[in-house]
Amino acid sequence: MNAVVSHENELLLNTVQCFLKDEIYPHEDAVDRSGEVPLELGRQIEARAKEVGLFAANLPEAVGGGGLNYTSSSIVEREYGKTTHALQSWIARPTELLLACEGDQVARYLDPCVTGEKRELFALTEPEAGSDVMGMKTNAKRDGRDWILNGSKHFISGPVMPDFAIVFAATGIDETPRGPRKRVTAFLVDVGLPGFDCREGHKCVSYRGYKTFQLSFDNVRLGPDQILGEEGRGLELSGKWLGMGRIWVGATCCGKAERLMNMAADWAANRKQFGKPIGTFQATGFRLADMAIGLRTADLLVTDAVRRADEGKMQDMDAAMVKVYCSEMLNKVADDTVQIFGGMGLMEEMPIQRLWRDSRLERIWDGTSEIQRHIITRSILRPLGG
Ligand SMILES: Cc1cc2nc3c(=O)[nH]c(=O)nc-3n(C[C@H](O)[C@H](O)[C@H](O)COP(=O)(O)OP(=O)(O)OC[C@H]3O[C@@H](n4cnc5c(N)ncnc54)[C@H](O)[C@@H]3O)c2cc1C
Repeated sequence: MNAVVSHENELLLNTVQCFLKDEIYPHEDAVDRSGEVPLELGRQIEARAKEVGLFAANLPEAVGGGGLNYTSSSIVEREYGKTTHALQSWIARPTELLLACEGDQVARYLDPCVTGEKRELFALTEPEAGSDVMGMKTNAKRDGRDWILNGSKHFISGPVMPDFAIVFAATGIDETPRGPRKRVTAFLVDVGLPGFDCREGHKCVSYRGYKTFQLSFDNVRLGPDQILGEEGRGLELSGKWLGMGRIWVGATCCGKAERLMNMAADWAANRKQFGKPIGTFQATGFRLADMAIGLRTADLLVTDAVRRADEGKMQDMDAAMVKVYCSEMLNKVADDTVQIFGGMGLMEEMPIQRLWRDSRLERIWDGTSEIQRHIITRSILRPLGG
């Protein structure tokens, strides 16, 4: 974690830790077993988060948010990472994409997300277009001043049935120096519009209780004021947010790895076999040492990327490195923790198996490890003409 933490950030960290201790940790096991967050519990977390100033803390004060800068956000996200998205996502961090709202959109979409009256989804992935975003089939065609939206999305996640979705759709083809490229536009699409079906989709074994939704659009009519940002600039709009999102994934991975490592260390110090604590066997002790090295390195990578972002110098490659390194570090820590716990690591009554399952998703969402490596490779080779 950051070597130098300001007094302000120490207070913030303390607020988050107390919040998790009182409002989140006590419910983790029950939610994982039932696969559901009772609505009253979700609303209670929302209400308490508003009371302590954590709700929408990521957005600027100018729009009613908490005004956290990147450094403070990384501290908060690292702490949230210790628990499950099923619960911590009720402490909303509305997508910064909503800052692109203009005119009436501000009152219809941005403001209610800041106050918690509305919830949004970020809908990019499709059944046949996951890593290959440009393979998207969802499209919108002009009809006079309106747009007619068709297609589908899946794996679109959120804590609760949303009020609207930010939907990415192809609205044409652009000629670029690298050949024809789909023109992608972001639309604000209200749940309940004729032709828009939004329902709960597949159930994920990571973060049980966190929902994925599947969305389908059958000739959904959208007015020109439903475009978020500029027509044809949807991917550019989402790009900056996706980059920071990958850094927040990295920070959450560090938090979860720290929680697992502390459990592993405690177990290794107290569990005895052959008359000795198992941590005194080099095979176990070195696992702990490697966890500590991996976690320290991952934290430094996050801190470095946050500094670059603060200076406005963060590149796609920086975020990709954070995402791939931190998520893989976490998975190694989770697997080694199971190993150190032995059979107990896989027993339902222990949290290890839950954190191990939760960790697995981090290598997949927000762009898989392979796609992150692809981004890094591209950044290395492109300047060389490759
Ligand atoms: C629980 C959950 C929540 C999610 N939430 C959201 C959300 O809110 N909004 C949203 O838009 N999306 C969301 N996603 C989607 C997520 O971002 C995608 O699952 C992810 O990008 C991978 O796409 P895919 O699952 O279709 O896998 P695929 O793209 O089919 O990939 C399958 C495998 O092939 C590999 N692969 C693919 N292409 C290449 C390549 N060129 N080189 C090397 N390897 C390759 C991948 O790395 C992977 O290992 C969510 C997913 C999950 C599981």
